[in-house]
Amino acid sequence: MNDLLVSYAEVAGHDVVDHLCQLAHPLRGLKIVHVNSTREGGGVAEILRKLVPFMEALDLDVRWEVLKGNTEFFQCTKGFHNALQGFAVGISQGMLDTYESVNASNAEELRPVLEDADFVFIHDPQPAALINFFPKRRGKWVWRCHIDCSRPYRPVWRYLKKWIASYDASIFSLAAFARYLPHPQYLIAPSIDPLSEKNIDLPESEIEAVFDEFGLKRELPLVVQVSRFDRFKDPLGVIEAYREARKMTPLQLVLAGGSADDDPEGKAVLEEVRRAASDDEDIHVLELPPDSHRTINALQRASDIVLQKSIKEGFGLTVSEAMWKGKPVIGGDTGGIRLQVIDHFTGFKVKTPEGAALRIRYLLHNEHKRYEMGTRARRLVRENFLLTRHLREYLALIVGVVHGLEDRIELIEQG
Ligand code: UDP
Repeated sequence: MNDLLVSYAEVAGHDVVDHLCQLAHPLRGLKIVHVNSTREGGGVAEILRKLVPFMEALDLDVRWEVLKGNTEFFQCTKGFHNALQGFAVGISQGMLDTYESVNASNAEELRPVLEDADFVFIHDPQPAALINFFPKRRGKWVWRCHIDCSRPYRPVWRYLKKWIASYDASIFSLAAFARYLPHPQYLIAPSIDPLSEKNIDLPESEIEAVFDEFGLKRELPLVVQVSRFDRFKDPLGVIEAYREARKMTPLQLVLAGGSADDDPEGKAVLEEVRRAASDDEDIHVLELPPDSHRTINALQRASDIVLQKSIKEGFGLTVSEAMWKGKPVIGGDTGGIRLQVIDHFTGFKVKTPEGAALRIRYLLHNEHKRYEMGTRARRLVRENFLLTRHLREYLALIVGVVHGLEDRIELIEQG
């Protein structure tokens, strides 16, 4: 076992890593490729950054390719994202033409890699049309959807389905997100990496340092939301919840976020958030560079409560990140947050700013509850949302899709 595998075994258990080695063994020599649309920013990049080296550590032949797009392309794909999550977004024919031509030019660049691959994971809608340009593909192609598309805006879904239907299979994070498609669908929840800078234990001094670095008050309880500045993350609702809670309980709020290369709306949302926060010195809106993993880790650890008040959420890695740090999470009652926040047990699910304010006040007045829920939250993540479980499911899926049902291995209990 190499050093990386030993480190994972120490956190997740030796049996877990042994199991991964067994699953990976028959897949050695297969060429596996992941394609998404940004190397930095957002949950997909966060996962691939760690999943790909982990697969390499298991001696798998894996590559991560990133689609190259222009502003109009990313405006179009952000429109897809918003539409899949339920907004009625009109996308012009000109934009769709850009979408298809960007996919066509990327297909030419990636042709040698993708035509030769045994297994291709295409993440989200941005590169979904690539498949159209590989009529001679020899491998299996799987579309991996990270978005809550439980109630997509129909015209946009109909357009995307044209491409997605050609895949050999698709993966969704939750059963509620699955769509009618003419191929097998798999459910795989995302995960966090316990060994990443974002999630490793930090010395107390580094956690304390965020108070000085960002001008936070040591004497005030700290509530934090970490998210791209995106309307689905409801940063304005978070500010409303803070103002409501603050009428009865002193506290301070950090909204920390950055941008993602494939998200052109971030700047405008950040401006709205800054305007909404400008009259209150205890609301800290932090725009962080993309490599601020340790800073985010320290902010999450320094907090008393973590919020993720999304109104739509594919999964919400930030929720598991906070829970791994033993924090109770107040999360929007939606999508993947429902897998992680178990009401009254690992945190609270809320629908409104008022609901969030009520739970903030309750938790700030109950240190023991914060500790109890935080402890359960960490255990839930350890058992369900670490990278090791995620990779096991990907490997099992590859075995299943490549070999089909005939070669299924039956495990029979001995004795
Ligand atoms: N993140 C980050 N910097 C930021 C904002 C977010 O590194 O300024 C990270 C965050 O810690 C998490 C990921 O980006 O790991 C966001 O994933 P999530 O599933 O929560 O949301 P998405 O952005 O994919 O909608």
